Amino acid sequence: MEEWKFYMPTRIRFGWGRFKEIREVVDELHGRRVFLVTGKQFAKKHGMLEKLTDFLKGLTLELYGEIEENPSIETVDKGAALCKEAGSDLVIGLGGGSALDAGKAIAMLQKNPGSIREYLDQERVCQTKGLPYIAIPTTSGTGSEVTPFTVVTHKAKRAKPAIAPPEIFPDVALVDPELTMSMPFEIAVSTGLDALCQAVEGFWSTQANPVTRALAFQAIKLAMENLEQACLTKDKESVNNMALASHLTGIEMSNIGNTAIHPLSYPITLDYNVPHGFACAIFLPAVIRFNAQAIEDRFRDLLLVLNLSGVGAFADRVDSFLERLKAPKRLSQLGVKAEDIPGIAKRGMGRSTAWNPKPMAEEDIIQICKAIL
Ligand code: NAD
Repeated sequence: MEEWKFYMPTRIRFGWGRFKEIREVVDELHGRRVFLVTGKQFAKKHGMLEKLTDFLKGLTLELYGEIEENPSIETVDKGAALCKEAGSDLVIGLGGGSALDAGKAIAMLQKNPGSIREYLDQERVCQTKGLPYIAIPTTSGTGSEVTPFTVVTHKAKRAKPAIAPPEIFPDVALVDPELTMSMPFEIAVSTGLDALCQAVEGFWSTQANPVTRALAFQAIKLAMENLEQACLTKDKESVNNMALASHLTGIEMSNIGNTAIHPLSYPITLDYNVPHGFACAIFLPAVIRFNAQAIEDRFRDLLLVLNLSGVGAFADRVDSFLERLKAPKRLSQLGVKAEDIPGIAKRGMGRSTAWNPKPMAEEDIIQICKAIL
């Protein structure tokens, strides 16, 4: 019999059109001077900024719209300094995982000294909760709105380290799937595949417990049944279900992290400029096959629900998703050369690699990379 624990301090509001409730949420947290952290273009281009300004009428709203994909230490530190200068008392992150993670770090740095680099390099630890933080996702992939993870690009180390102190969980996650409707096809595919990877990693993790497994099971089912439709036709129900899939993976992942796929994605994103979800998903079929024996029992009920004959058929189905959604399937398509593989394997091992259901050594990663070159 298992012993387990589970923690989720973030208050959640989920539902189509609920973006308009942002004023109520800000008022609940007693925010008067709001610091908004978002991407460079999309929020303005798709009218989200205009709406937010309208919803928050009467409050002071400072905009920091400079978050790039896979945000850097420099971007986060600049935002933290501007937030301090503005005397803000609440932070909102609006965007994909990049803006949400940057927002978390900026809120944290208002009450904790120094640069985010010092926390990433473990020279400092987060001592206290930062400013109140509201996370509003606009992609359906990372679940960052309900995790304490803050992933920041460390250019000097060519790495994407993360911090995850419990004080950094967002206070409120406001999830309005309608906000994801403006994602261009490629971003919808990449982020949706990220959600699928997180769900699968959560389901087979050696760290899983009954709650995280239930969440991951449901998230895999939702992603497998809705990803294609959500990307290809954008029908409301599928789009809503992908937002839910992503959100559920965030809740489970917040407690148990990922396994071998996410750390492997980091050198691919950094060295070949590949969007996070694609960098994860390219490994998914091969890692499912690698883990096949170790996961057979655990996947039995899931495979029945998905009407799949075995773990091999599950890997084949993911392969066909990649094909139909025009996602990269071979590392060479991304510019990876055979001689790069040992370096990828070395840098692609993280703490969570040890939580893969079948032990995975550097040599195994080399073989996996060669198989999908
Ligand atoms: P992203 O945030 O980098 O966004 C991708 C692109 O989509 C950006 O150019 C952005 O401007 C654009 N975009 C976002 N929403 C849009 C919309 N509704 N309409 C049009 N364009 C839109 O992508 P992501 O995959 O959501 O996040 C990736 C980042 O999140 C990576 O840094 C990754 O490491 C991190 N991550 C964090 C967690 C966590 O728990 N904190 C989990 C997984 C990944």
